Amino acid sequence: MSTGLSDRLAHLTSRTCDYRGTMQTFSVIGACVYDGTGAEGQIRDVHVHNGTIVDSLPISGAALIDGRGLALSPGFIDVHTHDDISILTTPQMPFKTLQGVTTVIVGNCGSSIAPDGAKLMGPIGCSRLSEYFQRVSDNPPSTNVAALVGHGSIRAQVMGIASNREASDDELREMARLTEEAMQDGAIGISTGLAYEPGRYSPTEEIVHLARIVAEYGGIYTTHMRDEADHLVESVMESIFIGESANIRVQISHLKAIGERNFGSTTQAISAIRAAQSRGVDVMADQYPYTRGSTLLDQLASGGRLRALHPDGIHALESLLVSSAPQHSDWEGCTLRDIANSLQLSDKETVEHVLSECGRSLLVVIDQMSEQDVCDVMKEDFVMIGSDGVPAGSRPHPRLHHTFPRILGEYVRNQGVLTLPQAIHKMTGMASTRFGLKNRGFIASGMAADLVLFDPLTVIDTGTYVDPTSVPHGLHSVWVNGICVAQDGHSTGERPGQALVSQ
Ligand SMILES: [Zn+2]
Repeated sequence: MSTGLSDRLAHLTSRTCDYRGTMQTFSVIGACVYDGTGAEGQIRDVHVHNGTIVDSLPISGAALIDGRGLALSPGFIDVHTHDDISILTTPQMPFKTLQGVTTVIVGNCGSSIAPDGAKLMGPIGCSRLSEYFQRVSDNPPSTNVAALVGHGSIRAQVMGIASNREASDDELREMARLTEEAMQDGAIGISTGLAYEPGRYSPTEEIVHLARIVAEYGGIYTTHMRDEADHLVESVMESIFIGESANIRVQISHLKAIGERNFGSTTQAISAIRAAQSRGVDVMADQYPYTRGSTLLDQLASGGRLRALHPDGIHALESLLVSSAPQHSDWEGCTLRDIANSLQLSDKETVEHVLSECGRSLLVVIDQMSEQDVCDVMKEDFVMIGSDGVPAGSRPHPRLHHTFPRILGEYVRNQGVLTLPQAIHKMTGMASTRFGLKNRGFIASGMAADLVLFDPLTVIDTGTYVDPTSVPHGLHSVWVNGICVAQDGHSTGERPGQALVSQ
């Protein structure tokens, strides 16, 4: 600590001096600083001026923030979100800022807000990404946002959502044009959702064709693979093939093995990824730190995954918890077993009934992975963290509010799966480097001042499947572009987020 600062700190009456508001010039004093590179923490001061981290502050009288006993890290980057619409409709994004997330990547699993001629995103969809970025600039959110363009959205725009066939040459040309337009508008890459409509109707060659265009712009290919259950390894091989054929960086989204009989198959998936890396294919992955997932019931029922979970047929009703049912909010928080019991229906009838009532909008939380697989994937040095949270309904999967504190509390402190510097690297510098987010993800001079001040001894997720929207513990302050957006579990209301448009 520089001379004199200790004396000045001694005059602070409380640890959380008032550093809200638009103040952009301040120093965090005496925190253990993890710079995002994976290096050990170092006790030092960090200075911020006009939204940027600087070496020193010439200005006397800048606010001092007492960081002693706390950890200071770059703001967390959520590499896998479905926050496309929330960025516009809930711009304070409390479910993100209160867990230390300062940047979200939207447009995942093949589904993006633009192009949205097929209205996958409802009335709020945009015709192209430039329009989305403009709306973000006009009505800024609390977090920064970078966007992928969804292959499913492009295909739906050109062919409709239910076209179970190959694209014609004209259709492929139009998909290519829309892909190029999105990259010119500032997308950081393209995502696929090959388990969902319409992505599941696309042959591999279609993806390769579009991925080549994205590669020319330096973009990334992210994928929710065709099958994360019985055909996990084949799906990984398809992702690698696309990376190799299109010469593009590949990011496998939410890497996992679904269904009890597939537990342990992450080992083969990891080996396949390692083998590809050793021959020069640039393939990495992300995950969320839970053994339960969340998806559309429609996709589960039509994809045969209910059977994958229980080979004898559909017997998984007690493991399916309704998280969002816009037409039937009374069902939210109930398992399908509860619904079957109250309606006196058989298992099969129950699934059919809820699908006919709610269709594609019914989201469920489902118990489907092993803790060992989650830990094995997490330990790999090519895996980063993405919440995959879906901001919908009253009982969202707790990953929406708690992913990042859970890594720090449960997987660093309680289980020791990762060290603190490793975990922070996965949530910051590794993520910004992977997705090409300039000036983010590290604490260094010239970087944007996206910062999180937290207590490594108490930080923890508090959300459960029954009560998923609580506030995580142990996060003191979160800054985006040098402005405090969250403090001691409360949003400040500030909205300094920016659209991170790829150039
Ligand atoms: Zn997905």
